[in-house]
Amino acid sequence: MPDAALPRKTAAQKARALELLAALKERFPNAHCELDWTQPHELLIATILSAQCTDVAVNKATPGLFRAFPAPADYARATPTDIEPYIRSIGLFRAKARAVHETARMLVERFGSEVPRTMEALLTLRGVARKTANVVLGNCFGINEGVVVDTHVARLSARFGLSRQKTPEKIERDLMALFPQEDWCLLSHLLIFQGRRACKARGGDCATDEICRRFCVEGLRAVRAEATKQSPQSPLHECTPKPHQKRATKPVKKTEKLVAPKRPSRR
Ligand code: SF4
Repeated sequence: MPDAALPRKTAAQKARALELLAALKERFPNAHCELDWTQPHELLIATILSAQCTDVAVNKATPGLFRAFPAPADYARATPTDIEPYIRSIGLFRAKARAVHETARMLVERFGSEVPRTMEALLTLRGVARKTANVVLGNCFGINEGVVVDTHVARLSARFGLSRQKTPEKIERDLMALFPQEDWCLLSHLLIFQGRRACKARGGDCATDEICRRFCVEGLRAVRAEATKQSPQSPLHECTPKPHQKRATKPVKKTEKLVAPKRPSRR
């Protein structure tokens, strides 16, 4: 059942969102979570490690980490200092080692070493906020509880005109109101794929990307600029002077003033 408290969206806004979704699905039929994992607790830990860090960097560190600590109980038995060497290449590794250790300890003590399957329970874990909980619920258990809003999703939501909100929580509410619930998990993968491959933080393929040209205000600008170049006579940009403008722009007197007066001949 849709949440009654979600922001209201018009039928036209929802239809446009569906068109964007279809275009992204067509472009990225294989969109998926780009963190490497095989068991739910691994994805939980990889997502905690990915805060303010790229998935690529996390994927370089996790094979060694997962080999050294195959189960939540292995992290729980260790200390944060034991975990640190495996994730040293990742930013904020000391704080993350503490979060991973504490989360694993809670999994063992409160949840029988299993990753819980509800938002409420996941949010009780150290280092787990809504974004991480959505990643785990959607990817490990196929539960569409919300939409993951990371930096790419936030950026593209603004550029595609899906949300004017600034906080991840409010952007998420807008996306939940616009898109069908069964697509929420996939939607974030699609936006992240587009964000990593076309619309990067410092400028993207505005002029050439078909999806951008249809859905982003920058893309539309590029289309208009192109139209101006190709057909200067296009009615969009043609500037036909009105009768009073024609009179005003007659260059007669101004031009005359600019011409240097002839010197009288000294004959
Ligand atoms: S048009 Fe440019 S700014 Fe807009 S989504 Fe595409 S790449 Fe990003």
